[in-house]
Amino acid sequence: MRVRLAPSPTGTLHIGTARTALFNWLFARHEDGQFLLRIEDTDKERSKPEFTENILEGLNWLGLNWDQEPILQSKRIQEHQSAIKALLNRGLAYRCYATEAELEEMRESQKKKGEAPRYDNRHRDLSPKEELKFKEEGRSAVVRFQIEDQRSITWNDLVRGPMHWQGRDLGGDMVISRRAPFDEIGDPLYNLVVVTDDAHMGITHVIRGEDHLSNTAKQILLYEALGLSIPTFAHTPLILNSEGRKLSKRDGVTSITQFRELGYTAEAMCNYMALLGWSVPEGMDEKFSIKEISKVFSFNRVNKSGAKFDWDKLNWLNGQVIHEFTTEDLFNQLKPLWIHQGWELPGPEWCFDLVELLKPSLNLLNDGIDQARPFFETPILQVDGQKQLGEDGALEVLRNLFNNLEKEPWDGLNANRGKEILKFSAKSAGVKMGITMKSLRAALLGQMQGPDLLSTWSLLARVGEDRNRLSSFI
Ligand code: GLU
Repeated sequence: MRVRLAPSPTGTLHIGTARTALFNWLFARHEDGQFLLRIEDTDKERSKPEFTENILEGLNWLGLNWDQEPILQSKRIQEHQSAIKALLNRGLAYRCYATEAELEEMRESQKKKGEAPRYDNRHRDLSPKEELKFKEEGRSAVVRFQIEDQRSITWNDLVRGPMHWQGRDLGGDMVISRRAPFDEIGDPLYNLVVVTDDAHMGITHVIRGEDHLSNTAKQILLYEALGLSIPTFAHTPLILNSEGRKLSKRDGVTSITQFRELGYTAEAMCNYMALLGWSVPEGMDEKFSIKEISKVFSFNRVNKSGAKFDWDKLNWLNGQVIHEFTTEDLFNQLKPLWIHQGWELPGPEWCFDLVELLKPSLNLLNDGIDQARPFFETPILQVDGQKQLGEDGALEVLRNLFNNLEKEPWDGLNANRGKEILKFSAKSAGVKMGITMKSLRAALLGQMQGPDLLSTWSLLARVGEDRNRLSSFI
């Protein structure tokens, strides 16, 4: 069992391609097969090595490991051309000399008659004399593969069940190589190239988006004509935006790099992408790892209809994943983000305690930047913090606390001792514990929101920051 992902490196890794990769990966792992990569870099103008790099890096990050060195399609052009020659020699393909202007005229007249645009196969049976005339005119030619209108094409799709196509719905004889001077073969085109390469790689199952359905019909004809065995096909539903249209670049965040930069975890992305089109078997949780799902994955549970992208669900899953990370794993994810802020990190124990403290309130990894900020930078006093410090007795109790800490500095380690100091500072100022605690929060964090106060104070005390911050209010 061999499957493949065949991305074109004309952009960064799109979530649609990543979801296709995931379904291929899950199927391969479930069946103990191989998951291969082929970089479809034949579009010389739009393909860029940095996009290939981005795609591989994105798949790696998602944990979708592949089993062999990726194949570069552009290295196989000679084989593609041999396949075209074979089809020409067997009379299954021919050169079409129609000029762009002639083709345009043909389409215009079809439009006027209310017909769907298609190539009218006008050069299918040229005589040698007619060909010679075109040659003398200096015309260039594309190669076209013959598609009989009355041919019916069927396959049993793993997602969509029995599929039927008619040759007449495929737009006339198909172009398989770009325009080239007389007698030459130009750059081979998508359908021909994919068939040649999939056969070369021994692909048994082609799993891709349903936007390729008509290509599959054309490709089956090419497999037959080239005498190659036809793989099994599975066409996955499209990912739709909130309006029910195909998710596209215009929808904003669509590339895996963007999701990553926003603070989504690879685990949540894979989990969520699996739910985009695949429904969980009864009794199974909606939160799972790709390893868990690969054990139960089958195309029986892949839906035919499009899958709407749901940010709330992704955010919820991401939060779940973060909350289940071990402290060390979460620290390893946050550390580069903190270092990137230019923050100097105290020892690992302190960092682990901070991670533990913040973990329950993180939904995105990037929340761990904003929420950690007051532990690394002196906070700016917010309106609510300022209001609290204006309460009766607030500054007095803080002054008491500061003086007590000068006398017997608390290193943040013994929580009971911390509480005691807080209590007698409140008592001697004649201020209630509630006001004392709130004022301490305002002085330490500059605002009234934040994690557990004693743990916050303890962390700041361990780096001497509590006295530092209190000192500005006395
Ligand atoms: N390069 C094609 C794409 O990215 C591959 C489609 C296929 O899987 O055959 O859409």
